[in-house]
Amino acid sequence: MSSAIAEGLAAVRERVAAAERRAGRQAGSVQLLAVSKTKPPEALREAHAAGHRAFGENYPQELRDKAATLADLSGLELHAIGSLQSNKAKYVAASAASFHALDRLGLAEELSKRCLALGRVLPCFIEVSIAGETTKGGIAPDALAPFLEAIEPLTGIRTVGLMCMPPALDQAEASRPHFARLRALRDGLLPRFPNLTGLSMGMSGDFEVAIEEGATVVRVGSLIFGHR
Ligand SMILES: *Cc1c(COP(=O)(O)O)cnc(C)c1O
Repeated sequence: MSSAIAEGLAAVRERVAAAERRAGRQAGSVQLLAVSKTKPPEALREAHAAGHRAFGENYPQELRDKAATLADLSGLELHAIGSLQSNKAKYVAASAASFHALDRLGLAEELSKRCLALGRVLPCFIEVSIAGETTKGGIAPDALAPFLEAIEPLTGIRTVGLMCMPPALDQAEASRPHFARLRALRDGLLPRFPNLTGLSMGMSGDFEVAIEEGATVVRVGSLIFGHR
């Protein structure tokens, strides 16, 4: 049974593999999160039937509801990729495989507390305001090291990398310097924070450039599930 979603997935997987080869990177070194926000549970079922397991969700209650509705799908992973209010941290702690938009100490504390109560550790990416946009979420590059130090004692979360969302979503080459900068930031912090290996960067419009610049996770929605 072929579907538009299965076809979209196959096409994106092929482009991920081609970008890995171009960049001289190992096949399978980039994780593809299929971003399924606002799409019905049936869309995730279709992708799961096509062999896909890892999904990205933005809204905590939607993630919670999908986790419940899709509990029968083996190996399903719902990753929380959107900005998060502290009062909704409980949904992410309970149901998310990882969190990609950590940007405040208070939120880190709340997530850690909730995860400890559940006996789990949540892998987290720190969101970085890579283009210096103060209106959007994210930690300023200068503030990264102190932030990483401040959250180090929180044992319910584990910082596994950095995440960014460059401003020009539809112009891949415009994103390249931002991706390169995130990688350089990560490389500079690695000696002091050796768990910080991940780079969550790249969306439908620019994931190939992100892979060329070192992404370990790409978050691709509309190319797989269609426009929202
Ligand atoms: C929606 C979203 C994506 C996917 O965007 P597409 O352009 O549909 O691929 C990736 N990351 C985040 C944080 C998002 O909110």
